[in-house]
Amino acid sequence: MERTFIAIKPDGVQRGLISEILSRFERKGYKLVAIKLIVPSKEFAEKHYHDLKERPFFNGLCDFLSSGPVLAMVWEGEGVIKYGRKLIGATDPQKSEPGTIRGDLAVVVGRNIIHGSDGPETAKAEIALWFEPRELV
Ligand code: ATP
Ligand code: MG
Repeated sequence: MERTFIAIKPDGVQRGLISEILSRFERKGYKLVAIKLIVPSKEFAEKHYHDLKERPFFNGLCDFLSSGPVLAMVWEGEGVIKYGRKLIGATDPQKSEPGTIRGDLAVVVGRNIIHGSDGPETAKAEIALWFEPRELV
């Protein structure tokens, strides 16, 4: 069954949005197969966002991701990679539709509270980066 990597970033955890976000994925019908709260190192954040290393915001983004607890998760279900991104909404919360997580709960692109894998290859790589196989139920 299809799986994706979802993470609530430090701003989402700090703002107390964990249960709100989890319930949206649960109510949709997706299955939680792994979850843990961790503070990633800067080096780890750089690995996670390696595709963006040429972008001007890369350093600030990695500093931010490693600034506090992140709730790392794997969710499973039909179409979960694409539909998970739909639940999350557009990258820039100014452009996210109301009804989406970012649209309802975030305001600026640098504090958009949640990450979701953008395709099958990245989902596979991100799950392997953040979790040991034995952590997946
Ligand atoms: P994510 O990978 O976090 O799920 P995304 O796939 O919607 O987000 P990406 O293009 O992968 O968007 O960008 C990764 C993250 O980098 C964004 O979530 C956002 O926090 C940050 N980011 C993207 N564009 C900008 C920007 N122009 N200025 C500042 N931060 C940005
Ligand atoms: Mg992305």
